Amino acid sequence: SFSSKYITQLPPDPLFGLKARYVEDPRTDKIDLGIGAYRDNNGKPWILPSVKLAENLLQNSKDYNHEYLPISGLKQFTQAAAKVILGEDSKAIKEDRLVSIQSLSGTGALHVVSRFLKDFYKNDSNPESLPTIYLSQPTWANHIQIFNFSGLKTAAYPYWDNATKSLDLDGFLKSIENAPTGSVFLLHATAHNPTGLDPKPEQWKKILRAIDENGHLPLFDSAYQGFSSGSLSKDSWAVREAVDGDYKFPILICQSFAKNVGMYGERVGAVHLILPEHDEALNKAAFSQLSKIIRAEISNPPSYGAKIVSLILNTPELKKQWEQDLITMSTRIGQMRLKLRDELVKLGTPGTWNHIVEQQGMFSFTGLTPVQVERCEKEHGVYLVGSGRISVAGLNEGNYKRVAKAFDEVVR
Ligand code: PLP
Repeated sequence: SFSSKYITQLPPDPLFGLKARYVEDPRTDKIDLGIGAYRDNNGKPWILPSVKLAENLLQNSKDYNHEYLPISGLKQFTQAAAKVILGEDSKAIKEDRLVSIQSLSGTGALHVVSRFLKDFYKNDSNPESLPTIYLSQPTWANHIQIFNFSGLKTAAYPYWDNATKSLDLDGFLKSIENAPTGSVFLLHATAHNPTGLDPKPEQWKKILRAIDENGHLPLFDSAYQGFSSGSLSKDSWAVREAVDGDYKFPILICQSFAKNVGMYGERVGAVHLILPEHDEALNKAAFSQLSKIIRAEISNPPSYGAKIVSLILNTPELKKQWEQDLITMSTRIGQMRLKLRDELVKLGTPGTWNHIVEQQGMFSFTGLTPVQVERCEKEHGVYLVGSGRISVAGLNEGNYKRVAKAFDEVVR
């Protein structure tokens, strides 16, 4: 039977719960720095000009319809998406070492990958054992439950050193060395959520080398390509180093277009598997098993957003406009980082605030404690995540001074 003995009520999801409290708050000057969604300088959602152009093209085309996509998704989209992350001239594409499939945005990609790893990623000396998924400490909260849902265990690797507000590279490397062979290391491709702190190229090389030498698999979660630097190629440096460098591991990539095309609700994403060498039989087998997972879970992926993104990626003028849109978004976020930092310095707010401008992507890990975060919300109507993370995209010319004042008051 259904009984509350078995069905226990869960607390609201922390992030969406935060959003609900924000919506209910009657204060007219409340400020939402919670969910990682881009806002324009008026605090409003932004439909990218490239998306508007693509929607126009799509809706005026004679083939416009809402038919089902194939199980593996829209091929023009998945192929072009692979080039966005791997580069136009990727060896993996030329050597036919790539398997791609469309997913329900980044979350769906992670979910498909979790199932695929559980069923098919084997440690040859102990094929019965399941791989452990190593996640950065801290990481996007949903990572843990996505992998646990598929019956995989997660473990944490040191990442953020709170004392220095920088990367704990030694701790990270030790954790790679100590993990059982055949573990999976989830790596944020760029714009780490929640810290906004990414390894530098030399640090990435050490991390990837250690993953390779210890027989693990790198799983890249790419949800913010374009948000760190405004450049698609710069923001995929780590992925391209892993794919094109001298390593022998297979690679998995979960790619989301939610943020970088601003189509959060349309669920556009892809999974890419890169095999270390060309193996046609393995390539086909992996594609068939990934397709089976999609068929069993969602039958086929949503088409509208994939068609829009496919048009953007495959039409040179639209691609150019999209690259411009990424610069618009990343530049505005960068300016807001500067303004907030400068305002805190101007107020003489206790503590150091340079990390706000040194971090990149959508988020800043402010260093505010849970008690200070709660006070920000209660006393000032400034909503941020309990960890002290702010979505910098929620700042604008009209509100950053009030945010700085709120921070100033709660840390004193
Ligand atoms: N990965 C990270 C690190 C994220 O921050 C997010 C979204 O916030 C996702 C994946 C997945 O996002 P979506 O499912 O909307 O593509």
